[in-house]
Amino acid sequence: MKIKNVKLYKTVYVPEDLPQTPYREVAFVGRSNVGKSSLLNTLANNFKLAKVSSEPGKTRSINFFLVDGKFFLVDLPGYGFAKVPFSEQKRWRDLIESYLKERDTLKRVFLLVDSRVGPTEKDVQMKEWLDFYGIPYTIVATKVDKLKKSERVKLKSKIEKGFGDSNVTVIPFSAKTREGRQEVLKEIKKALES
Ligand code: GDP
Repeated sequence: MKIKNVKLYKTVYVPEDLPQTPYREVAFVGRSNVGKSSLLNTLANNFKLAKVSSEPGKTRSINFFLVDGKFFLVDLPGYGFAKVPFSEQKRWRDLIESYLKERDTLKRVFLLVDSRVGPTEKDVQMKEWLDFYGIPYTIVATKVDKLKKSERVKLKSKIEKGFGDSNVTVIPFSAKTREGRQEVLKEIKKALES
């Protein structure tokens, strides 16, 4: 699958503004700093798409990017900021939960996990939400270029162990070497056709 043209379709701050369109979509989620913007840029061949999403004020929103007039890449707000006030965390939860439970057009979520850190408590919670709502997902282990060979060998088992689930699909990914880009694109294609 090739991605040629990406444009920001809508930025959403409150559940009522979620767009109702016929487009199918795949979404990306993970803790802040996990490498989500870098992954999106890599997929879109540096279309400056994540630059848009990291503009002030847009980081706490859901950004819908329309790809080649055909489907959405959905950039969900990063979680795990230590200093975010409780009210903001609640707003984030409400927004994400309304999104996950109401989206018939959502075909797959890519849950990004930092390969050096492994799944955090918030990542586990996110996975539990996805299981609860019956949304298919794939784990993307980011920044694998930073792993030592010995760590690389243990990556899948570390992630399975962290999630307490040996059935997760894991794609090792690096924005630096572009490893995993084709696998993610293939998974997107498959999801959109399902
Ligand atoms: P986001 O907050 O999840 O959007 O994370 P960013 O994409 O902004 O990345 C956070 C930091 O990790 C930045 O300093 C990136 O340069 C770095 N980073 C992201 N992906 C990779 C990767 O694949 N390899 C390496 N070595 N660094 C990465």
